[in-house]
Amino acid sequence: MNPNPAGGDDRSFLAVDAARAAILGALTPIAGRERVAVRAALGRVLAEDVIAPCNVPAHDNSAMDGYAVRAADLCADGETALAVVGTAFAGRPFSGMVGAGQAVRIMTGATIPQGADTIVVQEVARREHERVFIPIGQKKGQNLRRAGEDLAEGGVAIPAGKRCGPAELGLIASLGIAEVCVRRRLRVAVMSTGDEIASIGRPLGPGEVYDSNRYTLHGVLTRLGCELLDLGVVPDRPEALEEAFREAAQAADVIITSGGVSVGEADFIREMMNRMGEVAFWKLAIKPGRPMAFGRIGDAVLFGLPGNPVAVMVTFYQFVQDALLQLMGVAPLPAPERFPVRAAFSMRKQPGRVEYLRGRLQRSGEALAVAPAGAQGSGVLSSMSEADCFVVLPADCTAVREGDTVLVQPFHGIV
Ligand code: AMP
Ligand code: MG
Repeated sequence: MNPNPAGGDDRSFLAVDAARAAILGALTPIAGRERVAVRAALGRVLAEDVIAPCNVPAHDNSAMDGYAVRAADLCADGETALAVVGTAFAGRPFSGMVGAGQAVRIMTGATIPQGADTIVVQEVARREHERVFIPIGQKKGQNLRRAGEDLAEGGVAIPAGKRCGPAELGLIASLGIAEVCVRRRLRVAVMSTGDEIASIGRPLGPGEVYDSNRYTLHGVLTRLGCELLDLGVVPDRPEALEEAFREAAQAADVIITSGGVSVGEADFIREMMNRMGEVAFWKLAIKPGRPMAFGRIGDAVLFGLPGNPVAVMVTFYQFVQDALLQLMGVAPLPAPERFPVRAAFSMRKQPGRVEYLRGRLQRSGEALAVAPAGAQGSGVLSSMSEADCFVVLPADCTAVREGDTVLVQPFHGIV
C-alpha cells in the first residue's frame, strides 16, 4: 500500500480526487462470508451471484382481467363472436385447450391456456351468456406476461457485490430462495481523541466539550451495516493512545479516529503510528476538513479524521464511506450523485480548496435552487442537521453569484 500519493513531501496539499483514488486503490474487500436468511440480507453485500433456479414468472400469464383468445380467430374488419368455454383463475389454471372460435375468461396472473396467444381486456369485450364479442383493433400477444420476463432460469438474477435493499429481498424471495451468501459484516473501531473531550453523562469541566463525533459516526456506520467497537474518548497521552490503537487493530478491520491529526497536535501520534504501522498524514485541499491521516495499523485500515464535527462528517462522506463500501465488497461502487442547480446566494471563496457548503434545496419556479443552511463554520454541526445537500465548489472557484449554476450532492444519496 502506498498511502502517500503526494510523494515524499507529505506537507503539500493533496487534491480530493487524488486522496480518494489513493484510498480506494489501497483497499481490497474482506474475505469472510456467511449464509443468512432472506430478511437478514437487508443491507448486506452479496458474496456470490444469485442464480435464478426458475423462470419468474414461471408461466406465461395474463397481465389483465379479460378473455384469452387466438389472434388468428379475430376478424380484421368487424366484431368477432367467440364461445366462452371456461375460466382461468390465478393459481387455478384452465386445463383444457382453446380451440378455433373459442375463448376462456381469464383473471390477472392466471396461466395462459393452451391454444390462446392474446388477452383482450374485459372493458372492451361484450359478454352475452356463453358468448363474448371482441371488437377490432386487438394485437397478437397483447397483455401477456411472458415466462422469464422478469428473471430467466439459469441467469444471474442479482450479481455479487450488490448491497441488498428491499427490492433485492423481494427478488430473492420471488425465486423461492430462502438463504443467500453474503460478506461478513465489517468491524469498525471508533474513538475520539482529545483532553478536552468529555463523554456525555457528566457535567462539563472548564474548557471541555461533549464528544459528538462518536455519535455521528455511530449513525453513519450503523446505517452502513458495520459492526461497531466503541473505544470511547482517549486522552492525548501517548501510552493511552498506543494502548487503544493496539486493541483496535486486533479487534477491527478498520479504525476511525477523530481529532489529533492537525499540524502541531499530531507529532507524537505520527511518531507512534509510524512505529505501529504505516500512516500518511495528509493536508487535503478541502474545506472543511484539511487534516486527515490514512494508512494501516497492524492489519487494520486507519482513517484519522479531523476533530471538528462538520469536518468529520464531510471527510467521512467524501473519503471513508466509499472506502468502507469497497471493503464490504460492494461492486461497482455507486458513482457520487451530483447535479447542477441554481445558486440562491452569493459568496466569495479563496481558490485552492474544494469547499463543501451545507445547503438546502428549494424550489425556484420550475427549477431547483440551493441556499446555505445556517452558519458554515467547521464546528457548527447544526448546519448539517438543517442541510439536505452539500454544495460542492471546485478548487478553482473564487466566487459564486446568485443565479450561477452550482453542483449539489444530495444527502439522500449518501445512505
Ligand atoms: P483537533 O483536530 O483535535 O485539533 O480538534 C479540532 C476541534 O474539534 C477542537 O475544537 C476540538 O475540541 C473539536 N473536537 C475534537 N474532537 C471532538 C469530538 N469528539 N466531539 C466534538 N468536538 C471535537
Ligand atoms: Mg485534539
